[in-house]
Amino acid sequence: MFNISKAFDGKPALGDARFTLSWGEVHALVGENGAGKSTLMNIAAGIYAPDAGEQRVNGEAFAPKSPAEASRVGIGMVHQHFRLVESFTVAENALLNLGSQARTVRQAADLLRRKADDVGLAIDPMRRVSELSIAERQRVEILKVLLLGARILILDEPTAVLTETESSALLDFTRRLAESGLAVTLITHKLKEVAECSDRLTVMRHGRTVLASAPMAEVKEAEIGLLIVGETVPQVQRPKVDPGETRLALTSLRFSGQKTQQGLDLKLRAGEVLGLAGVGGNGQEELVACLSGAQSPIAGSIDITGEIANTLSPRRRRALGLRIIPADRFAGGLIREMTIAENIAMTEIAQQTQSHRLLLDRRRIYARATDAISRFDIRGAAPDRRTELLSGGNAQKVLLARELDLGMKILIAHSPSRGLDVKASAFVREAIGKAVEQGAACLLISEDLQEILALSHRVAVINNGLIAGERAVDDVTPDWIGGLLSGHA
Ligand code: ADP
Ligand code: MG
Repeated sequence: MFNISKAFDGKPALGDARFTLSWGEVHALVGENGAGKSTLMNIAAGIYAPDAGEQRVNGEAFAPKSPAEASRVGIGMVHQHFRLVESFTVAENALLNLGSQARTVRQAADLLRRKADDVGLAIDPMRRVSELSIAERQRVEILKVLLLGARILILDEPTAVLTETESSALLDFTRRLAESGLAVTLITHKLKEVAECSDRLTVMRHGRTVLASAPMAEVKEAEIGLLIVGETVPQVQRPKVDPGETRLALTSLRFSGQKTQQGLDLKLRAGEVLGLAGVGGNGQEELVACLSGAQSPIAGSIDITGEIANTLSPRRRRALGLRIIPADRFAGGLIREMTIAENIAMTEIAQQTQSHRLLLDRRRIYARATDAISRFDIRGAAPDRRTELLSGGNAQKVLLARELDLGMKILIAHSPSRGLDVKASAFVREAIGKAVEQGAACLLISEDLQEILALSHRVAVINNGLIAGERAVDDVTPDWIGGLLSGHA
C-alpha cells in the first residue's frame, strides 16, 4: 500500500500511510488508538475506498470495491468487533458467507470441520454462537475467512479480547499460518506480542507510517514504545494526600460466584486508592455489579458515605457520589449510537427526568461537551459526533469526562486502561490520580499489576470473590502477591 490517504467527514484519518506485507511473515502493525491501523487495513479488505494512493497484490494494481472483491485476491480480515449472528449456529453463520462453496448447513458444517482439522482450530459447527466464548467466536471468524480462501490474513487487535492463555494459543496459530506460507498482519497494542511473534514491524502515528517494515531483530522494545507515542511516556505519580473519612465500607458482602460463605470485607477512605488486584474471573464483575446496583448482594452490607445502599437504585447511589467506570465501556457506560454530547449529559438527563424537568438546555449540553472535549483532549470528537466513531482511548475519555464530575465521592474504576495504548493509559491514570488528590476515594480493580502498583496506596488481592490479603503498597512483594493471586498463600 503506497501513499494512502483517507478522510472521514473532512477529518483526515490517513495521510501518506504505507504498508508492505510479504508472504510467510507475521507483520505487526502497531500505533496508539486512532492512529489509523484499522482504517488502513479496512481499505485493503475492501471496506473503504482510499481518497488517494495505490495498492498492489503480487505486483498487480488492486483497488477493491467490496470485501468480496478483496476476498477474490485472497485478502481476509477478522474485525475487532465480530460479525456473527448470535442466534445462528456456527455452520449457519458460515453458510451466509460461503456462496457457492456450500448450499446447505450440512455442507457448511463439513467444510468447517475439515478446515478446523486442517489448521488445528477446534470448533463444533453445530453450536449456537450465543453459547460460544469470545475466543471460540474468534476462531469461527478466522475459519470463515480461511474457508473463503484467504492467503493474506488481517487480524485486528485479536488478543485485546482474549485471556493470556488464549492469546498465546492464537499467536502460536498465526505463526503456524505464516510458516505455511500465508501473510499475516497482526494489529496489536501489546509490545510483548510484537516482540515474540512477529517477523517485521510497522508503526503508525496520526495516520502516517513512522516506521515501515523494520525486521524485529533490529528494533528494541523501548524504541517501539517511543515511536508509538512520539514522545516520552509520562510517569504516573501516586496521588499524595492524607486519607480522610471512610467513604465505602463493604461488610461480609456475599454475591454469586463466591466459593465460601464468608463474604468480602473492605474499607475505602477519601483521598486513597485501594488497588484490587486479581486474575480475571475471580468475582471482580460480580463485585462491580453489586456496587453499581445492577445486582443485589446475597448477604452483607454496602455502606456508601454512611448510608446502607444494598437496595438503593443506581440513580440514588449516584446521588450519594458513587461513580463507576466499567470494564466494558460500551456495555456498561456509553451508548454507541448516541452523540458525545448526549453521552456526557446522559446521567444528568436521567436525574432531570426524575424531577419532571424534561427539557435540558441544548446549548448548555453542547457547552459541557465542548468543554469536556478540550479538557480531556478527546481526539476526533465533536459534540454531535456519534460516540462509536471514536477510538477506544477517546471513548474512554468521554466516560471519564462524565464520571469524574464535581459530585464524585467514590470512584470504582474497573480496568480503566484495558485495551488502551501507553499514552491513553497514562492519561486515564493521571485523571484518576487528580480526582483522588481532590478528595475522591478510588477502588481500582485491575488485572494490570503495573497499574495497581503505580496508583494505589493499599493493595488487596481478590481471589474467588474474597479478599485474600491486603498490604500497604510499599510492603507489597512479588512473592506475597504471586501467592495470593494464585490462591496458594
Ligand atoms: P486505530 O485502529 O489505529 O485505533 P482507526 O483507524 O480506527 O484507528 O481510526 C483512525 C481515525 O479515523 C480516528 O480518528 C477515528 O475516529 C476515525 N474513523 C475511523 N473510522 C471512521 C468512520 N467510519 N467514520 C468516521 N471516522 C472514522
Ligand atoms: Mg483499530
